[in-house]
Amino acid sequence: MKSPVPDYLDEIIETFKDDRQGELADYIPELARADPDTFGIALTVADGRTHSAGNDDYTFSIQSISKPFAYAAALTDLGLDAVHETVGVEPSGEAFNELSLEHGTRRPKNAMINAGAIAVHQLLVGRSSNVEERVERVRSFFSELAGRELSVDEAVCRSELDTADRNLAIAHMLKNYGIIDDAPHDVVEGYTRQCSIGVNVRDLAMMCATLANMGVHPVTGQQVVSRRVARQTLSVMTVCGMYDAAGEWLTTVGIPAKSGVSGGLIGALPGQCGLAVVSPPLDEHGNSVRGVRAFRKLSDDMGMHLAEAEPQGATVVRDFYVRGEKEAVLELQGTVQFSGAEAVLHALENDTTGTDRLTFDLSRVDRVNDVARRMLLEAKRRAELDGRTTDLVDPDGVLTSSDVDAAKEAASESH
Ligand code: GLN
Repeated sequence: MKSPVPDYLDEIIETFKDDRQGELADYIPELARADPDTFGIALTVADGRTHSAGNDDYTFSIQSISKPFAYAAALTDLGLDAVHETVGVEPSGEAFNELSLEHGTRRPKNAMINAGAIAVHQLLVGRSSNVEERVERVRSFFSELAGRELSVDEAVCRSELDTADRNLAIAHMLKNYGIIDDAPHDVVEGYTRQCSIGVNVRDLAMMCATLANMGVHPVTGQQVVSRRVARQTLSVMTVCGMYDAAGEWLTTVGIPAKSGVSGGLIGALPGQCGLAVVSPPLDEHGNSVRGVRAFRKLSDDMGMHLAEAEPQGATVVRDFYVRGEKEAVLELQGTVQFSGAEAVLHALENDTTGTDRLTFDLSRVDRVNDVARRMLLEAKRRAELDGRTTDLVDPDGVLTSSDVDAAKEAASESH
């Protein structure tokens, strides 16, 4: 059987390809030369398969879509607290290139607007880093996420540097307030090189899938960034990724996202997939017109809005039965999080089997997150306090493995 998913992506391209609204960005002269008809889309699911349609091999400069990934790199290099001292996490409600800082702290409001992204770029590798080190840090990190070697598009970079007065003004403002240490020109050069890294939609969908997958690369299985860093990055994308259209985006599409001035638009749906669209004409907020429409359709058709999560709790208790004379068996299934573990505790609270033995059968469980693990172990402990003998059937070690480490990691990273 041929999967209908690529056919569906083709349908999205067909639906919007004749939509000719929006303008090419022209403040970076090289971007004004893009073909406005270019239109590509890609989707990578959390276990690594990529589907794509349209101009899926068209290479374009990553621009502002670099910002969440550079933020994740800086969080990894310096830790959450140090980055938080330099850049906030509040939506600015302003255009991406506004010369503005947070009242009181004088930090840029978030890492998705230029002021925040320029400050974050300077933090990469460490505060005393130079341009080459910072650019190589993001280039190699983006390459690791994309699963292939990426490079800087020098023509786009030169073209932006020739007209970078506004970003230079922002960098001078940051230097004045001690937010950056390096020379403003060097910081803008490094940031502009970061924005000029060439990608296609398949690269971006793969990069997003790692964020959606709690920092684990869907193909290599490597924990590329910590769960906490992935969570932080997706959170900031959710509130700030679409600039002054963030509220409209969250209510209609409901996927953590980021747009770029070359027409790219990415989304990362936690636990499910990474998405990317490219179509160069932009709306008044600097977001791709076809990109926004494609995401709206995808979210509606595929039920991808964050706020529409399916209830999980009740499905976790598969069966609760008595075996022989003295043993009650609690059979669990699927992914166990707080609400699933609560359903287990509820079943045990109302247990009228009166058996001496209680067996927790986790052979059909795929994952147990940290809080559910602690709740299940507590259920086991309380059953023993009640005088019952307990058994754990856990052939894949779901109750004892990875999430224990993740919990330790979360505890050691504050903020
Ligand atoms: N390099 C661009 C700039 O700094 C990125 C802006 C964007 O993509 N919105 O102006």
